[in-house]
Amino acid sequence: MSDKTLTAVDVLLSPLEQEEMIGRLTAMASALDEWYQKEGRQLPWRTDSTPYHVWLSEIMLQQTRVEAVIPYYHRFLEAVPDIAALSEADDMQLVKLWEGLGYYSRVRNLKKGARQVMEQFGGQLPGNIRDLRSVCGIGEYTAGAIGSIAFGIREPAVDGNLLRVTSRLLAAEGDITRPQVKKAFHDILYTAMSFFPSSLYPGDFNQAMMDLGSGVCTPSQPDCTNCPVREYCLACMRDQAELFPVKSAKKARRVEEKTVLVIICEDHLLLRQRAANGLLAGLWEFPSVDGKLTVQQTARLLESMGIETTRLVSLSESRHLFTHIEWQMTGVLAICKKGCSFPDGWQPVTLADLQESYPVPSALRVYRKAAVEWLSGFFCE
Ligand code: SF4
Repeated sequence: MSDKTLTAVDVLLSPLEQEEMIGRLTAMASALDEWYQKEGRQLPWRTDSTPYHVWLSEIMLQQTRVEAVIPYYHRFLEAVPDIAALSEADDMQLVKLWEGLGYYSRVRNLKKGARQVMEQFGGQLPGNIRDLRSVCGIGEYTAGAIGSIAFGIREPAVDGNLLRVTSRLLAAEGDITRPQVKKAFHDILYTAMSFFPSSLYPGDFNQAMMDLGSGVCTPSQPDCTNCPVREYCLACMRDQAELFPVKSAKKARRVEEKTVLVIICEDHLLLRQRAANGLLAGLWEFPSVDGKLTVQQTARLLESMGIETTRLVSLSESRHLFTHIEWQMTGVLAICKKGCSFPDGWQPVTLADLQESYPVPSALRVYRKAAVEWLSGFFCE
């Protein structure tokens, strides 16, 4: 059978027929909405759901916990209150406002998207899914979220929460990492939404599913006893909630070992900028070398580069996980002689510059802390 002839039932491998799936989701939606109106999380972007606010919050929430996003959201909006301001904001200021949130391409795409909105849509996010999808950085999920929450469009916002909850409700055995399965979930939810009562706001449905997925129907140990939709849930009825969703195993991350050099020269530390493309593009980092070096090996390396040191201190090891890579790091703090010269591209930065202007990835937080403590006179070995 070619993919074109496959139905949602074939792809999802659910025991239910398509009409039954839609009926079950439609019946469940009202119970879910009742729960959401009482128990839904009070979040800043929900009290003022202008399209820009929803857009910003959804981009920040990608791969990031709600609690971590809230202070960033307020700080960002204070500095960049609307789409016009975003389209003209300084790149380094934007990355600094994003410092610590990770996945920095999100904020660059946000600015590109804002420029596009200014040029093509008169400064207003468009109120239809097709045009929203054309804006840089707005994919299918984000278009569904903005469309449904800010404009009331009947469109599902299919993220990990929606996939997990829906696969459990329908006891669907399709592997949710497969694009055809994701599309089948989207299509079933999209059709079901067209049968929802008109009093049920589409954005509330999507946000209720998000809340259910993050607080009740969690990845491990779903709380079926207290779930507002348990009487509609096939996986729960069969006592099989933890068997869903079906997911193929992820590939192991590539491990990269490195020694991070926290180099201090008088009242400056040395940073260098990462390449304009790729991982942590354009951010500032401490110079580093591949492999884990001892203090003695680091001393020899710096000497071979013509950098004279007066003191070297071993820093703790740390680890950072990216989507496909794992950094395993060790660090050395090196105090250099006055007047040392450094390789091209190594930028001397004061403590105030580090704190106010230079965005350093959170992957290096242990070494950033050591540099700040040294420059503030509070360093403890
Ligand atoms: S009943 Fe259990 S498995 Fe079903 S949606 Fe609720 S928490 Fe999830």
